Amino acid sequence: MSACHSNPATIFALSSGQGRAGVAVIRISGPRAKEVLERLAAPCPPPRRAAFRKIVDPATGELLDAALVLFFAGPASETGEDIAELQLHGSPAVVRSVFQALDGIAGCRMAEPGEFARRAFLNGKIDLTAAEGLADLIDAETDAQRRQALAQAGGAFSRLCDTWRQRLLEARALAEAAIDFSDESDVAADALTRARASVAPLLADIEQVRSGANRGEIVREGFQVVLAGAPNAGKSSLLNLLARRDVAIVSAEPGTTRDVIEVRLDLGGYAVVVADTAGLRNDGGAVEQEGMRRTKIRAGTADLVVWLADVQDPIWPTAELLTGSPPILYLANKSDLLPDARSALHDGATSATAIRISALTGEGVTDLVGKLTSVVEARVATAVNTGLPTRERHRRALSACVDALRSCLEPTNTEPEMIAEDLRRAADALGRITGRIDAEDVLGEIFGRFCIGK
Ligand code: GDP
Repeated sequence: MSACHSNPATIFALSSGQGRAGVAVIRISGPRAKEVLERLAAPCPPPRRAAFRKIVDPATGELLDAALVLFFAGPASETGEDIAELQLHGSPAVVRSVFQALDGIAGCRMAEPGEFARRAFLNGKIDLTAAEGLADLIDAETDAQRRQALAQAGGAFSRLCDTWRQRLLEARALAEAAIDFSDESDVAADALTRARASVAPLLADIEQVRSGANRGEIVREGFQVVLAGAPNAGKSSLLNLLARRDVAIVSAEPGTTRDVIEVRLDLGGYAVVVADTAGLRNDGGAVEQEGMRRTKIRAGTADLVVWLADVQDPIWPTAELLTGSPPILYLANKSDLLPDARSALHDGATSATAIRISALTGEGVTDLVGKLTSVVEARVATAVNTGLPTRERHRRALSACVDALRSCLEPTNTEPEMIAEDLRRAADALGRITGRIDAEDVLGEIFGRFCIGK
């Protein structure tokens, strides 16, 4: 083992937020954590017991602060190493002076972003999906994001992958037995039949979770709503109303919203990204044409299109204006100008998808928000507590696993060696999700996104 592995640096970082606060938490992890605590805040308290101590610069003897200190002995700690924690008064000056003191201790250095989590992974305290869950939890803005991230950080998805992998290993053992007993054709054929019989229901389970994979991604990244409709229908006005702040340029001149403007909203606990797009109409100039091209692309891949029409002269989506078949809410806007205009509602819409609103007076907006929330909920509710896949990385690995299992079940695939190889590929794909396999490839990607101190 290299010197670097047997004796890693002791790292420290501010784990609480930057700037003035009541409390600032500095964490120190590594083989020297206890020694550091003894030098700054002697004596070191017993593990997991808080103690109030004077914090002193060991180089100068200067008093830096008085703080609550804690010690966690590895491996029963978050990183698996010895950890010391200082709960200081939260001023930048206190934090700076303690950093300086720590920097002066040999073998101690400032942590890189995500280095605490990376050490926890390398010491087997968490797997990759749990690390991703932790990162998502820190970034969570809405309730659904928090619940989903918490389930994932708690290992919900990784436990699922592990049970699948276990089932695969059993099937693989049967396929290996078929190889070993290839001169006894009855035994070999029986083992292969049993291997395949156990793969079929496993494939169904994995396919079911994969088909729901985008639900987890929607919760994490936000449900994509595109506001579309003819210029001047009131899209920017509605977006401003929804966001309760001025984000888009509201103008009476048609065709001014040329670019896509996004607002992130928290609707009933779900993250929703609403994009205001260039007005769709057929006689615009070159810039507008480009804007409309982008709108069409955006709307075609949206989770939901909110189509606005002016009640006085409604223009509803046609095949030229909207490609693809995203779900649509039909909004008859400017209801204040035509108070009794039932006829202005879209013919094909149901009571669940047709809404009369006024972006000017706010009429109907509560109804719109309610319907929008129902649509989002119906799409993603089950993802939140069940630890479904939340990233493209997970979806890709599940697809690779499904492909291998399908190949294994092909009626023409009768060679035990080929079947064993398919099962190995399937198990490897699952191993990649949790980081049992090829973790190096994704470590930088996953841990580099953490902030310093995590
Ligand atoms: P966009 O081109 O679809 O983004 O439309 P805007 O939001 O820029 O609105 C175009 C014009 O219609 C502006 O003058 C708005 O003030 C006006 N407008 C938007 N919504 C309403 C509404 O509900 N009632 C009335 N009376 N005017 C509205």
